[in-house]
Amino acid sequence: LKQQMEHSGSLSAVGQLAASIAHELKNAMTSVRGFTELLKLTTDQDSARYVDVIDSEMGRMESLMAEFLSLSKPSNQEDEVFELSDCLADVVMVMEPQALTRKISIFMDVQLDAEVTVKGKKHRMKQAFINLFKNALEASEPHTTLITSIEPYDQEHVVVAFSDEGSGMTDQQIKQVFLPFFTTKKEGTGLGLPFVLETAESMGGHLFVKSEPGKGTRFELLLPIHGKLAVEQPDQDALLIP
Ligand code: ADP
Ligand code: MG
Repeated sequence: LKQQMEHSGSLSAVGQLAASIAHELKNAMTSVRGFTELLKLTTDQDSARYVDVIDSEMGRMESLMAEFLSLSKPSNQEDEVFELSDCLADVVMVMEPQALTRKISIFMDVQLDAEVTVKGKKHRMKQAFINLFKNALEASEPHTTLITSIEPYDQEHVVVAFSDEGSGMTDQQIKQVFLPFFTTKKEGTGLGLPFVLETAESMGGHLFVKSEPGKGTRFELLLPIHGKLAVEQPDQDALLIP
């Protein structure tokens, strides 16, 4: 835990320092990408291949910048209270097409007897869910299943879990996943999980991981409950009518 806290501390320092630079670079990159588009139209086939490489690398830089910026965005927006399963359902809807393309099924399993609200920045929460979904999809083979669940934990907390049947991780990898810039992907940024961890901590929660190579991975977001809304109970009398 201490190690993870230190990571997120260093992350916000890095984030603040880089925010203004990242912003300038992003603007510059947008204009460079505009010109590569033009080049593709006006150049011969061989050179067009090189321009494609430039373009895709620029795309990678752009997403790195975007993630960097969302990490370091000053959180002067007010916290809001929002319903957790609605928020997760929105994200499931967004991720479904990407899962379908990869022939991966998504199941959402809400194991609560009442609606739960949490307090924080809903937009960041969604970004965090998207990051965990993306990682799970990227680690998974076709015809596997990805389960996201909301589970009771104790009186004050719930767990949002993301379980995949993907590649899994070695102990060595697990030790590094929350470190900024740790990635095993060709086009990875290594900023997804640090962002998720920071989001969880900013809400008074935490992020845990369990993983086994070749079996799959389960990320658990522990979140403090802000309030519980009683669900409408089915009318008992109505159920008794044959
Ligand atoms: P990125 O996705 O850009 O690599 P992340 O911070 O999101 O950065 O993830 C860091 C690394 O953690 C990944 O490169 C991968 O090695 C590992 N990882 C994250 N999620 C999973 C998962 N569900 N299954 C297997 N490995 C994972
Ligand atoms: Mg990621």
